[in-house]
Amino acid sequence: MAASTTRPPRWVLASGNAGKLAEMRALLAPLSMELVSQREFDVTDAEETGIGFVDNALIKARHAAAHTGLPAIADDSGLAVDALDGAPGVYSARYAGTHGDDTANNRLLVANLAGVARHDRGAAFHCCLVATRSAEDPAPIIAHGVWHGLILERPAGTGGFGYDPLFWVEDEQASAGQMSAERKNQISHRARAMHRLIEQLSDRG
Ligand code: IMP
Repeated sequence: MAASTTRPPRWVLASGNAGKLAEMRALLAPLSMELVSQREFDVTDAEETGIGFVDNALIKARHAAAHTGLPAIADDSGLAVDALDGAPGVYSARYAGTHGDDTANNRLLVANLAGVARHDRGAAFHCCLVATRSAEDPAPIIAHGVWHGLILERPAGTGGFGYDPLFWVEDEQASAGQMSAERKNQISHRARAMHRLIEQLSDRG
């Protein structure tokens, strides 16, 4: 008698970023799901019109699910600075105007915090992950990870990306740009959100 083979459920990742896909696949491996990029279905990026990280992650996940008919996972992340009322927030990648210009973004952040005392320079990285079983899922899973730190007056370290060299983590006595990638991946907002997502996906079965 032929052995029956059950395919693991397929989920689409609402991102065309190969690095994100590899990281997510590795983390979700214990759940036996097949994760495929929305790029394989020629899904274009959704317009990120939300005010907050949750809004944008939901927009992206529902968009990918609607265009593929598959359950979808999406993420949205960024930096929120207390003294700037949460800016740059969802504009983190394009704070200084050009998407992904980390140097200009960091320069603008330092300038906007000029003269602000150390104890008022608190900030947090946020990562929001959403898993939706369909485009119309009324109860998507939402997992949020937060990483607290403070914004330095000048960059320290050359590792990581984005705002990492300006993000000082007191417990580590290092900026995110001075940490090894391994250490950052254990304690970051993304790691925290990932663990919460996995817990909730496992709970829902
Ligand atoms: P994305 O939505 O995950 O691509 O991130 C949006 C933006 O937030 C990035 O372009 C960075 O500017 C910032 N950001 C998010 N996570 C990090 C991080 O771990 N380190 C530094 N910057 C980050």
